[in-house]
Amino acid sequence: MQTSEFIDLENQFGAHNYKPLDVVLSHGKGVWVWDVEGKKYLDCLSAYSAVNQGHCHPKILEAMIEQAKKLTLTSRAFRNDQLGLFYKDLCELTRSHKVLPMNSGAEAVETAIKVVRKWGYKVKGVPQDKAEIIVCENNFHGRTITIVGFSTDENSRAGFGPFTPGFKIIPFGDANALEAAITPNTVGFLVEPIQGEAGVIIPPPGYLKEVRSICDRHNVVLILDEIQTGLGRTGKLLAEEHDGIEADLTLVGKALSGGFYPISAVLSNTEVMAVLQPGEHGSTFGGNPLACAVARTALKVLIEEGMIENAREIGAYFLEGLKQVKNPLIKEVRGKGLLIAVELYPEAGGARSYCEQLKEKGLLCKETHDNIIRFAPPLVITKDVVDWALERIGSVLGRE
Ligand SMILES: *Cc1c(COP(=O)(O)O)cnc(C)c1O
Repeated sequence: MQTSEFIDLENQFGAHNYKPLDVVLSHGKGVWVWDVEGKKYLDCLSAYSAVNQGHCHPKILEAMIEQAKKLTLTSRAFRNDQLGLFYKDLCELTRSHKVLPMNSGAEAVETAIKVVRKWGYKVKGVPQDKAEIIVCENNFHGRTITIVGFSTDENSRAGFGPFTPGFKIIPFGDANALEAAITPNTVGFLVEPIQGEAGVIIPPPGYLKEVRSICDRHNVVLILDEIQTGLGRTGKLLAEEHDGIEADLTLVGKALSGGFYPISAVLSNTEVMAVLQPGEHGSTFGGNPLACAVARTALKVLIEEGMIENAREIGAYFLEGLKQVKNPLIKEVRGKGLLIAVELYPEAGGARSYCEQLKEKGLLCKETHDNIIRFAPPLVITKDVVDWALERIGSVLGRE
């Protein structure tokens, strides 16, 4: 079948809730993917940072196959011999006390919301149904009704109400706004260390440290959504490490499986998670042995193969290279590790056409909002490949 036939099938039978680039991929290896016509591309999106370990990592693949032959799903009605080992690995790696496994990122966010509300009522003493959670403008935490209800992106919200009450929205990067928004009923502050979907928005230096101390002062649970920034993407295992802080609840997903399987988790540092009793929360697939075996290996290769250090070093090199691309239409180049964005002025006519041109040159990038191009290749990318990419990016974006 031809590219156009695959696209026609999708258009005919699928819901039109995405606007993908017109490339139909059939296989991948490391940082590279190939389309059905055999053309090779550098993946500069990594499935929104789910494929940090590179496509089809052989060790994760092997773990998946071996576990799939043995046992895939028990539900949590019974125990399995992978779950405890997964908990232990994840806790040791992230210095957490407790783990609650789910599947998608949005489910991890929903789980954290439930946990902090319950904690608010049982421990903090907030009156029934009065719990408030503070979130930030331009956040992205997923697509459920509750989560889009506190989005500030009209596209995500319009037509989906009525929404879940109990959320307060403040500007991102403004610690004073957080302190001002806290009331005796505030139970949690949910924030991304760097706003990925908003276009790689990096808060001012010291922001997270201040947020940490404000949350401590007011007995508010700090929930960091590291679903995109975590697991090596920014050059640290967790982005919070750049600021030397620890969240009370940390959400991870995406790269937790290296792209093989939907796996997410809520990590807890405090007694907050202890408020959950049997029967109060769960998921049929959450913590299944296949997921656990895959995740354990995905974490292992991230560490053993030096991917986090590579993200730091190659990320800095890539960022520097992008800053050398000269074009008066480029407003800003920013990033941390391998989470990088090039923001264009509106006069550039939108990032989409540049992504289309980059695709023709063999780079797959996706615009985020209208004017931002994100560069987030798998963390196994080498300097040579970055040079290859910069040459092509320069030819599309550069104007002397
Ligand atoms: C992708 C993402 C989510 C949602 O994850 P899904 O697996 O798509 O539900 C939540 N938060 C952040 C920061 C993300 O990047």
